[in-house]
Amino acid sequence: MATIFSKIIAGEIPSYKVAEDDRFYAFLDINPLAKGHTLVVPKREVDYIYDLTDEELAAMHVFAKHVALAIQKAFPCKKVGEAVIGLEVPHAHIHLIPMQKESDMLF
Ligand code: 5GP
Repeated sequence: MATIFSKIIAGEIPSYKVAEDDRFYAFLDINPLAKGHTLVVPKREVDYIYDLTDEELAAMHVFAKHVALAIQKAFPCKKVGEAVIGLEVPHAHIHLIPMQKESDMLF
């Protein structure tokens, strides 16, 4: 059964797209921890981020880096934090969270 993120990638569920290439998709989190909180997901349906191949994981992080730098321009902040959680949605993803101060990471 397709995950909610696969339905988002397929356009069956609406999302606010931040960036996309042939393998990855970035969109705003529906329940943001900060303005600009973005999720980066592989289009290939994989349960958890560390189930990706080493090559896919490296490529996803390079994609996430470019998205993070764009987010930092669009949502001025001190840094963009990166988090791997994966408790709720069984489709690999990285959280990119604009932060103004250290304590913003304590979520
Ligand atoms: P995690 O699996 O890392 O614990 O959290 C999954 C994240 O996906 C949560 O931050 C949640 O707000 C987000 N999320 C869940 N369903 C949707 C959805 O339908 N649309 C969007 N944009 N985000 C979602």
